[in-house]
Amino acid sequence: MREKFEKELKECLREGQLRFGEPMKLHTTFRIGGAADYFAIPFSEEELSEGIGVCREYGIPYYTIGNGSNLLVSDKGFRGVIFCLGNGMDRIGIEDEKDNHGILKAGAGASLARTASQAAAYGLAGLEFAGGIPGTVGGAVMMNAGAYGSEIKDKILWARILWEDGKISRLSKEELRLSYRKSILSEKPGIVLEAAFWLEKGKKEEILEIMNRLNQSRREKQPLNYPSAGSTFKRPEGYFAGKLIMDAGLRGFRIGDAMVSEKHCGFVINAGEATAAQVKELMEEVDRIVFEKFGVHLVPEVRFVGEW
Ligand SMILES: Cc1cc2nc3c(=O)[nH]c(=O)nc-3n(C[C@H](O)[C@H](O)[C@H](O)COP(=O)(O)OP(=O)(O)OC[C@H]3O[C@@H](n4cnc5c(N)ncnc54)[C@H](O)[C@@H]3O)c2cc1C
Repeated sequence: MREKFEKELKECLREGQLRFGEPMKLHTTFRIGGAADYFAIPFSEEELSEGIGVCREYGIPYYTIGNGSNLLVSDKGFRGVIFCLGNGMDRIGIEDEKDNHGILKAGAGASLARTASQAAAYGLAGLEFAGGIPGTVGGAVMMNAGAYGSEIKDKILWARILWEDGKISRLSKEELRLSYRKSILSEKPGIVLEAAFWLEKGKKEEILEIMNRLNQSRREKQPLNYPSAGSTFKRPEGYFAGKLIMDAGLRGFRIGDAMVSEKHCGFVINAGEATAAQVKELMEEVDRIVFEKFGVHLVPEVRFVGEW
């Protein structure tokens, strides 16, 4: 049965776009993660949809990733297929609209940085906050990514979703149920294929200036020279995770090569050859100590993938 499954999955994809035993550390910004049984790179919605159909038919688990910038993949890897959306599913288009606004449509695999830059190039404001988030449009919609007081929710018009049963529907902003690092997809599995954003016309130079300033602020405050998955924990209501961790005396706290960043305590970094198990243990310890000191639990923002 495995052979038949592999043959059919391969047939859905272009030559060389199905890999076997692919180390996930090559596909996560943490540079951590064991092998995925299968790693598939669909170049179109049809290839993705057909690939998922084959998984469904054979009962093989699958998981979708974008740039892997919010993931902690287990050292044991993933038993099933990882669909990685990027090239081929990354088209960006701008439509001139009315009322001093334009619509930007982006494929799920488009990088946020490129999407924000394209918006700027067309003099469309509103995505400046996203220019330094190292994810894809699909991952950002799923996570309702945000920074500097703005989030995807503020600018999105709709997203097209491929559901587990193979049906595709277009969900409005309200139907996407976006809230802090959450969307409808946190409860009901589905894959973002494309999203549209409603952006205000502005001055290109001013938009670029804001983007540059925000990116500069990131470089100053975040440990961008180390692999990480960004903010490791969600912001607990009324607190900042990084401050709680710092006040708990955990700056630089490490287990193996998993370490609380000295530059920004909200980031757990991979200081060398950290394993997923070390990161997970460190996160649990940090949560335990912070709870002991301040009575606040830290909930992971990073998504755990694979066998634990
Ligand atoms: C240095 C650094 C800084 C960061 N700064 C920020 C920040 O300021 N704000 C912020 O919100 N995040 C930040 N992040 C986290 C991360 O970049 C975002 O969460 C981003 O939106 C994840 O996108 P991705 O494509 O990398 O998703 P992945 O990490 O690949 O996946 C994340 C989740 O989204 C799902 N997913 C991915 N693609 C799709 C799709 N097409 N359809 C449905 N589900 C999908 C995955 O299954 C997974 O559950 C940062 C990360 C790093 C490393």
